[in-house]
Amino acid sequence: MIYDIAIVGGGPIGIACGLEAKKNGLSYIIIEKGPIVNSLFNYPANMQFFSSSERLEIDDIPFISKEAKPKRDEALEYYRRIVTNHKLNIHLFEKVDVVKKQTDTFSIVTNKATYKSKKIIIATGFYDIPNLLDVPGESLKKVSHYYDNPHYYAGQKVAVIGASNSAIDAALECWRKGAEVTLIIRGPEVGQRVKYWVRPDIINRIEEGSIKAYYNSIVEEITENSITIKTGNEHVTLPNDFVLALTGYKPNFKFLDAIGIHISKDEKRLPEYDGETMETNVKGLYLAGVICGGMETHKWFIENSRIHAKMIIEHIKGNR
Ligand code: FAD
Repeated sequence: MIYDIAIVGGGPIGIACGLEAKKNGLSYIIIEKGPIVNSLFNYPANMQFFSSSERLEIDDIPFISKEAKPKRDEALEYYRRIVTNHKLNIHLFEKVDVVKKQTDTFSIVTNKATYKSKKIIIATGFYDIPNLLDVPGESLKKVSHYYDNPHYYAGQKVAVIGASNSAIDAALECWRKGAEVTLIIRGPEVGQRVKYWVRPDIINRIEEGSIKAYYNSIVEEITENSITIKTGNEHVTLPNDFVLALTGYKPNFKFLDAIGIHISKDEKRLPEYDGETMETNVKGLYLAGVICGGMETHKWFIENSRIHAKMIIEHIKGNR
């Protein structure tokens, strides 16, 4: 069969696209390499969204949470219920390896099958590829670019690298569960985009000396028992058990490039698409969700990218 639309990625925005396609009587398939909303599933166990729940809703389906800003588990529940209640056609644990444009159709090759579709929506997010430190020792088992649960770090010397929400949440949680936390921050201060109710908390913990922070500092080397940083003009070696390198993530540019999507040559690495229709320079191929921001991963959220679903489906309907 040739689907009207193949959607790569079953995150909140891929799901919104599938729902919109279904409502409009289009045949579609969502292909997701992990479980439903895989990125959210891999967020820290206690993570709380900075958005209030109504701003994470798709298609006006009410998202009711205990507090105004939902927790990760509530979001999993919400998006899972949408998929199951609406019986969306989603193939889970199936990874798309290649997307190729043929004359009037696309072929989508996964690790399990090959599909054909008239249009493609790429909604693969940015959570799969961490920004690496590129220092010796980064591949040691004690170094992680993802953070899950503070319990693991109790009683341990933990270096948290980064100054944005993920790093600050991890630093505070680990410290509260009994870890000895050192923050290593490249710039002169805690990130300005840190949640407004969390920023004073971390600044107070640093000022009272509960959490040690090194500003204007970069990591030089990690060994089994230590971490060496350059702070100002000094090189400092600290005893260390674990490193949480929470320095952000980036989209899979290789994947986009292989499909033929143009990507800007500057440091923003913005993919080329029409801001009104979300169609890329490859005709019939659309981008949706946070992947649209290239390296500017703070630009798009669920909040402001959930509208992509309706924009794309409207354009596809108009061009059939
Ligand atoms: P994703 O949710 O990342 O979905 C992409 C999906 O594509 C993934 O499930 C992935 O497994 C799948 N995939 C990737 N490659 C392939 C492939 N080759 N084949 C098949 N499947 C593939 N946004 C807000 O609006 N409010 C918030 O409060 C908020 N908090 C955040 C907190 C954190 C810690 C992070 C990291 C992000 C937060 N965001 C927030 C941003 C936003 O929630 C996420 O980035 C969101 O997941 C974006 O949705 P998406 O569908 O575009 O991408």
